[in-house]
Amino acid sequence: MKIKKSPVHAVGSKSVFKASKMATKAMSLPKTLVLLRKLNQKHGMDCPGCAWPDPDKRSKLGEFCENGVKAVAEEATDRKIGAEFFHKHSVKDLLDRSDYWLGQQGRLQQPMIIENGDEYYQPISWDRAFTLIADQLNALPSPDEAIFYTSGRTSNEAAFLYQLFVRMFGTNNLPDCSNMCHESSGVALKETLGIGKGSVTLEDLYKAEVILIFGQNPATNHPRMLTALEKAKAHGAKIISINPLKEVGLVKFKNPQKVKGWVGSSTNISDLYLQVRINEDVALLKSILIKLFDLEETQGGIFDTDFIRNKTDGFEEFKKDLLSNNLNDLIKRTGLAENEIDKAVQLLKDKNKIIACWAMGLTQHVNAVDNIREVVNLLLLKGSIGKPGAGTCPVRGHSNVQGDRTVGISERPGKDLLDKLATNFGFDPPTKHGYSVVEAIQAMYDNKAGVFFAMGGNFLSASPDTHYTTQALKNCTLTVHVSTKLNRSHLVHGKTGIILPCLGRTDRIIKNGKIQFVTVENSMGIVHSSQGMIQNKADLLPEPEIVARIAHQTLKESKLDWIYLTDDYNRIRDLIEENIPGFNDYNSRINSGGFELPNGARNGVFKTASDKAIFTINKLPDYEIKENEYLLTTIRSHDQFNTTIYGLDDRYRGVFDGREVIFMNGEDLKREKLKAGDRVDISSHYNDTTRTIHSYTVVPYDLPSKCLAMYFPEANVLVPLDLHARESLTPSSKSVIVKISKSKD
Ligand code: SF4
Repeated sequence: MKIKKSPVHAVGSKSVFKASKMATKAMSLPKTLVLLRKLNQKHGMDCPGCAWPDPDKRSKLGEFCENGVKAVAEEATDRKIGAEFFHKHSVKDLLDRSDYWLGQQGRLQQPMIIENGDEYYQPISWDRAFTLIADQLNALPSPDEAIFYTSGRTSNEAAFLYQLFVRMFGTNNLPDCSNMCHESSGVALKETLGIGKGSVTLEDLYKAEVILIFGQNPATNHPRMLTALEKAKAHGAKIISINPLKEVGLVKFKNPQKVKGWVGSSTNISDLYLQVRINEDVALLKSILIKLFDLEETQGGIFDTDFIRNKTDGFEEFKKDLLSNNLNDLIKRTGLAENEIDKAVQLLKDKNKIIACWAMGLTQHVNAVDNIREVVNLLLLKGSIGKPGAGTCPVRGHSNVQGDRTVGISERPGKDLLDKLATNFGFDPPTKHGYSVVEAIQAMYDNKAGVFFAMGGNFLSASPDTHYTTQALKNCTLTVHVSTKLNRSHLVHGKTGIILPCLGRTDRIIKNGKIQFVTVENSMGIVHSSQGMIQNKADLLPEPEIVARIAHQTLKESKLDWIYLTDDYNRIRDLIEENIPGFNDYNSRINSGGFELPNGARNGVFKTASDKAIFTINKLPDYEIKENEYLLTTIRSHDQFNTTIYGLDDRYRGVFDGREVIFMNGEDLKREKLKAGDRVDISSHYNDTTRTIHSYTVVPYDLPSKCLAMYFPEANVLVPLDLHARESLTPSSKSVIVKISKSKD
């Protein structure tokens, strides 16, 4: 492993070279060109990476980023793993390999099974696999003993059929990856603004006066956001970044689509960069709000009093609670100098077109819902919601994570959805809430659930408390994964483990000689189509067909002709139109280029109990970091998307050819008598259990004292299952109290 200085800007020519290298290493040149030409273009193929929206006018040079190319190359790789591979490698052998190595082996080629006591996966036919799954499901004492997980790649069509099958089977056990990322946003936004999604569109970013970016690293996680921020700045927006780590992409950006991005200077992204201590965003926001109240008192005109009076509830209680805080104590908690906070106040005070963007830096804490509600309080005071250039922007991770929720993937379905399904399909959907991810792991661990079915994803690597989750999965009688590539979750299986290999976003789906497309919803609520380009000759099935064939096999009494539905995806979209609000004329509107889903908050309509936006009273985190303790946040490397490891470099943070690192502040290094390159063990201790990982290399980094950062999935071992957001149950992966000690080796 090599540690170098971080670069001074993100993206630029290096990004183009790296993307080209990754693409051509994985795929032939003609295939690369076919895929990239259509990537994120109208009627083309949606990027299997993040959910960042596409602009109306697409660039002819290509509408994608380095990480989009990596995502495409990862999925469309020419490398293949079939029966010979699994014959050569036992599960024990594969468990010793890194996540990166597993992903590099290639695309799965045929269904595989491993049964109790076996050491190797063996091929199985599709028919036999479906019969076995149906038999195991039907043998369960209760449908609630099966868990059906969904990852955010799943298309609207597959997700709708999947939730329908699961509810006809008799359970709401539909945990999904949202439970681990933006569940806190959904809970906070539904309560305060009446819709669990963001309110802004791309156009709003270009009209904003101030854009706040909380707990986010766009250069790695949704890189095209930088292009949008550059354009917003050109239109006059000021950007305030709030992040414990100094992330190069939030400092300077070189846009490779512009000549200036190759030979000229970079664009300064942040006008103000506040390196707040990990999880002290509420303290920072309260400090800013108190100072704004002061200015409102002394000079007036700071708040949108008409908006507050006519459109909100709870203002007086909120104000009373806010002003009861001691400003100096709040500022001290943030770790920032008061004059830095004053600069934020100056940038905000006269503006009312404010957009707040955020990601996991706000959502993965015990107090995550408070974090987001406090952001909403700021927007409500300024009347910055329901108007152009203002509003909420939770930036979603996986490409259709938002769409899956919209079409019914939820362990807590609303009554409206269940009533529709009951009327239109003639059955009694279960009303009892199902398990979220955390509850599902607990249920499997406690032997209260025996079948785990995953529609995509890498559940084990995405989940907290890796050793505990491992045991939970091993307790199952059956684990099934619908996947494109081999991953760690396949290696920690139940008594029987099945891998069902599916077509991916890049693959062409043909039914009865007709090319099919699927649909997805981006982070800003726009639904559009995605059509794969590559004819994959392996023994793979598209996800909707996998669901339909399992449903057909399991639900013997079902009158629904599942197979007929998947013969033409327009039929599935017709069913979505009948059951999910906002999808009227689905097929015709999708064919005309896509459409925007209804969004009350975008238009200043708040579907809360009082039809008003709600001010809330939010708590500060209530833990204490002792002298010998630190607060650890988990992060992604630049060669990583969620749990997929594309490579071993994190060039924006200067780490090359390795991942077992811990980022530390220079003062902390001195106090601990450590130097760069030393190795440390890291432990977390919660509820009488100590979790430890060994021998991580210390890397000095620009982040506040008493704060540490490590990559997940490696650091997930340290995140206890029961350390999660109070209201949303999202694992608290961004604030874990840990101790460090010098490794003995
Ligand atoms: S920004 Fe996201 S959606 Fe766009 S190309 Fe990059 S990874 Fe794909």
